[in-house]
Amino acid sequence: MAADGTTNGLLRGSELTDRVLDATEKFVAIRDRVCGACEYSCCHSGTMVGQHGVRRALKGIELKPELGPAIREAMRARAEELKADLDTIRKVTELLEMGFAAQMPAELAELKRLTAEWAGFADFLGSDFELSHDNLRRVTEFTAVRANLLRGVGSFAGGHAALARFSGPGGSFTFRRRRLAPPRCMFHRDGCVLDRYKPIKCANFFCNGEPNLLAECQDEMTFDEFVLSSMYVEPFAFVRQVVEQAGVLGPDYWEPLVAVPAARAQGDELVSLAHLREGRVELRQEPAGFYLSTEEVLHAIVATGRDNTVICRAASVGGPALYELAVALQRAHNDGILGGFILIPDGFAPSAFMPHPMWTDHMMSQPLGSLDIFAIGE
Ligand code: SF4
Ligand code: SF4
Repeated sequence: MAADGTTNGLLRGSELTDRVLDATEKFVAIRDRVCGACEYSCCHSGTMVGQHGVRRALKGIELKPELGPAIREAMRARAEELKADLDTIRKVTELLEMGFAAQMPAELAELKRLTAEWAGFADFLGSDFELSHDNLRRVTEFTAVRANLLRGVGSFAGGHAALARFSGPGGSFTFRRRRLAPPRCMFHRDGCVLDRYKPIKCANFFCNGEPNLLAECQDEMTFDEFVLSSMYVEPFAFVRQVVEQAGVLGPDYWEPLVAVPAARAQGDELVSLAHLREGRVELRQEPAGFYLSTEEVLHAIVATGRDNTVICRAASVGGPALYELAVALQRAHNDGILGGFILIPDGFAPSAFMPHPMWTDHMMSQPLGSLDIFAIGE
C-alpha cells in the first residue's frame, strides 16, 4: 500500500469507488450552488437534444428504470405549461382578429393553423405516449413549433408584446421580466431529467453563466477530483448490461466506454461480451499505461474502421490520457468515423505530473462528457 492509500499508486476496486463518490459529492454541491444561482440559464435557452441525444436518452431509459418516469413527469408538466400558453395565444389571436381581420386575412389564417399545431403538440406531450425513438424525436421538435408560432404572431405589429403581456403565471412566454423568453429545453425540470444521459455538449460543461460552473470547479477541485467526479460507480452487472445493450442495439447506438474492473476476470468477461457484437473486434494490449495521444487514438480508429470495435486493455489510465482519448473520440464522432471503442484499464493512475492543458488553460468546455467511465465496485 502506498502512502496515499492506493495499491502500487493505482486506484481500483473500493479505493477507486470511494474516491469517485467523494469527488462526485463535492461536484454535486458545487453544481447545485452555482447552477442554482444561475437559475439554469443554459437549459432555459434551447435544447441540445438532437438525433444523438435521443439515442442516448433511449439507452438510459432502458438501463436506469427511474429515468422513464422522470421524463414522463417532465413532459406532463410541460404539457400543462403549453396549455396555459395556448390560452394566451387564443386571447392574443382574438385581439389581432379585431384589429387586422380586413387587412391581413391570410396571416390570420396562418396563425390559426400554427395555433392548432401548438394545441396538437400540447395534447401529444400530455398523453402517455410510448417513450420510443420517434416520439422522443417529436418532443425535440417543439423548438420548431414554438419558432413557427412566434413567426406567425410576429407578422402583426405588437404581436410579441401582446404575448408577453397576456402570459399568465403558468405559461412560458415570459421569463425574468424579459419581453419574450427563449425556449426552455424540454428535458429541464428542476435540473436535467436526462441526468447522465444528457447530450454530450451539456455533459462537457460548456458554461457561459455567471457565476460559472467550470470556473468554480477549477477553483475548488483538483484536476484528479474533477476527472474522478466524471466517473460512475456501478456494480459489474450494470456494466455488463451496457456492453450487452450495445451489442443488441447495433452500431448506431455504440458509444465509447471505459471500465475499470475490480478484478481482472471482470475485464475478461467484458472482452468476451464485446466480441458478440457485429463487425470485427480487435484487442490491443497496452502493457504499460494507456498513454495514447489524440492523434494516436484517431489513427487507431481510422485503422479499425467505422463498423468495427477496438478494445484496449492497459495496466492503467490517468486523467490526462482520458482527456486525450475523449478529444479524439469526439472528433471521430463528429467526422462520422467512430466505430466501437472500449478501454479496460486495470486501475486509475492519479496524475503524477501535470493536469491536461485543457484544464490548466481554463478551456470553456472539458471533454469527458463523451465518455462513459465506470468504476466497478467490488
Ligand atoms: S452550466 Fe453554467 S450556464 Fe448552465 S446553469 Fe450551470 S452555471 Fe448556468
Ligand atoms: S439536455 Fe439537460 S442539461 Fe442539456 S439543455 Fe436540456 S435540460 Fe439542460
